[in-house]
Amino acid sequence: MTGRTFIQVILPLRLAWEPFYALPEGVTVRLGERVQVPFSGRTYSAVVTDPDAHPEIDTARIKEILALEEGIRPVTAAEIRLWRFISDYYLCTLGEVYLAAYPPRRIAGEKTAAAIRQRLAQRQEREAQRSAARLARLQQRIASRESRLEKARKDSVRQQLQQEIDALKASLEALQAEPQPIETPSQEPGKSIRLTPAQETAFQRIQEAFAQGKNALLQGVTGSGKTEVYLKLAQDALAAGKNVLYLVPEIAMGYQLAERIRRIFPEEACTYSSGQTPADRRQTADRIAEGSYIVLGTRSALFLPHHDLGLVIIDEEHDTSYKQDSPTPRYQGRDCAVVLAAQHGCPVVLGSATPSLESLYNCKIGKYALVTLKEKYYGDADEDIEIIDTQAERRKRGMEGHFSSKLVLRIRQTLAQGRQVIILRARRAYSPAVQCDNCGEIRRCPHCHVALSYHQDKGRLVCHYCGHTELFTETCPHCGGTLRPIGAGTQKIEEEALALFPDAAIARLDSDTTPAQTIRIIESFESGATDILIGTQMLAKGFDFEHVALTVILQADSLLSLDDFRADEKAFQLLSQLRGRSGRRGGESHFIIQTSQPQHPVYQMLTGSGAESQFAERKEFCYPPFTRIIELMAKDENEPRLETVTRKLAAALQQALPDVSVCGPYAPAVDKVSGKHIRHIRLTLARDARLKAHKETLLATMQAFCRDNHYDGHLGINVDPA
Ligand code: ADP
Ligand code: ZN
Repeated sequence: MTGRTFIQVILPLRLAWEPFYALPEGVTVRLGERVQVPFSGRTYSAVVTDPDAHPEIDTARIKEILALEEGIRPVTAAEIRLWRFISDYYLCTLGEVYLAAYPPRRIAGEKTAAAIRQRLAQRQEREAQRSAARLARLQQRIASRESRLEKARKDSVRQQLQQEIDALKASLEALQAEPQPIETPSQEPGKSIRLTPAQETAFQRIQEAFAQGKNALLQGVTGSGKTEVYLKLAQDALAAGKNVLYLVPEIAMGYQLAERIRRIFPEEACTYSSGQTPADRRQTADRIAEGSYIVLGTRSALFLPHHDLGLVIIDEEHDTSYKQDSPTPRYQGRDCAVVLAAQHGCPVVLGSATPSLESLYNCKIGKYALVTLKEKYYGDADEDIEIIDTQAERRKRGMEGHFSSKLVLRIRQTLAQGRQVIILRARRAYSPAVQCDNCGEIRRCPHCHVALSYHQDKGRLVCHYCGHTELFTETCPHCGGTLRPIGAGTQKIEEEALALFPDAAIARLDSDTTPAQTIRIIESFESGATDILIGTQMLAKGFDFEHVALTVILQADSLLSLDDFRADEKAFQLLSQLRGRSGRRGGESHFIIQTSQPQHPVYQMLTGSGAESQFAERKEFCYPPFTRIIELMAKDENEPRLETVTRKLAAALQQALPDVSVCGPYAPAVDKVSGKHIRHIRLTLARDARLKAHKETLLATMQAFCRDNHYDGHLGINVDPA
């Protein structure tokens, strides 16, 4: 047949290519539009990546699309550009990125060609209306600035307004080819933000960096008011008719922030995280596609239909929660946000009290400008750090359960002053394991190589890796001895605290808490109704509680024992963050670390500056940021086969990539999950121009290996593991 139009699409599948389809006579589609197509006997919602493709294959065999998708906004070219970057860089397929960006939807029935054409006409009409609305918004913004310009007297203000007007007029001209305006309400960006002199200086430095085309890293001590600086930058961007993406590592810390943003930008503020319902998320996405916005979100907010981006804010940029470990795409949200911004030609401000070595390195090589903020907004608290040696205390009989007497005293003093306490323990559940007091047997998950955690409230043992649960019975199934909880998770700490401080109101926050409870617990603590808040790592992140005068970490050792070259850096960051939750309005403040290894260098780093020695160590051992790491993960229920195949694969990779260091296969700390054994192979690559070529070779070698050994579906790739 001649005259047929062909298109190329992305399917929501792990597919390494973009298949071709034919369009019915007279139908045209556009880039990003969704079409329903048949594939392997099923129907999928596909995204058009080439609306006019010229396949170099036998076109007679190309199938026709089934329908145009009704009522969904097309994916933008900019979105697809980001998907392509992620697919290339993180060595995954476009389909996997599409799935992450647009979780699968139900497919409606098939449509006829006539229905498709009718739909086309409706669509054109709607689009005309939409651009009219944008036009009206722009005109209103120009008008309001012109009236302000008339009244303004200061030269600097006049100049600023004139610049904004010029920029808006340019956008207006670009749109003017479109039809007549219709009425829509518009609002000026809200109240003013007053910066302190130190914040003002930081703000200006960041703007200077932006003017030079550089991103900025804002290193500000906790409580210095980094948020204020971000919001001021955001205000400028919105005033210039641009939009803002504000990323946080976890949405828990976003509740307080969202409120603050909503107060300043009531019209433009919205939030987005994978914890929201699909309907809520779709609504936010549609709203963003059409209007001006500042969106506060977690890494998945990268996949929103961003347009007219004027600023990307990456808060707590050091946080490893930015990295997605599974499923694919295993992307680093921070790094992708920087790429997204570059694709949109917009600047980025990254911020942290304890920046990642990766970002500090980017400052060293001149890619980012380093801007510091050293003063706390409410002045320095009268702060001290105390390290309590639990082994020594135990010998002196100075421990009550998991609390040392010194700590109990300090908590009582703090409560007596009417102030609050945060206690962090890096393990949830009642106890991380149960053990038989007779035969010493530890109850393990039948599917994973890990101990089962004891959840006393449910009376069950739970595997935190695969979700397996079983009823807890006190009798050891092997010898009839008694099973006893060993160690303490947050639930046990809560129980001990309730006994030690009977008059205090105590709450617990960890991933066993539901989102609704989380909001309630945070509000209650914020209002002062709760005295002691106990929880896991999430307590350390970004919260701004007024009356906290004491923060505590129990069994800090559990942060140190990770077999990970980043363990010290992560521990240091967590401890610094936790410490920063206390004394946020000045006054007396304490930070107590309970540990059995008080001499560990991480604790010394808290008082000095750690980055330089860490740089030296990373360089010596060829770790990132001086190199790039790619980790291959193989999973197989058959362990001998896994061993043999991964050894062969490592050899094949080493042969294909002679100047790359290939390490392994080795068993990770948890080497069996959900019935599958796990091995890792680690590749360390030089950080140079050959990186891309090396990745291509790696992928080709792996694909050939899987084909030759019939070993597909067992391997995963993790680029830049966190
Ligand atoms: P950081 O994120 O640097 O730890 P925050 O931005 O949370 O610090 O600021 C700490 C506290 O100081 C917050 O309660 C914030 O409202 C207050 N604050 C900081 N800067 C200002 C300012 N310029 N005006 C008013 N309040 C401020
Ligand atoms: Zn398990």
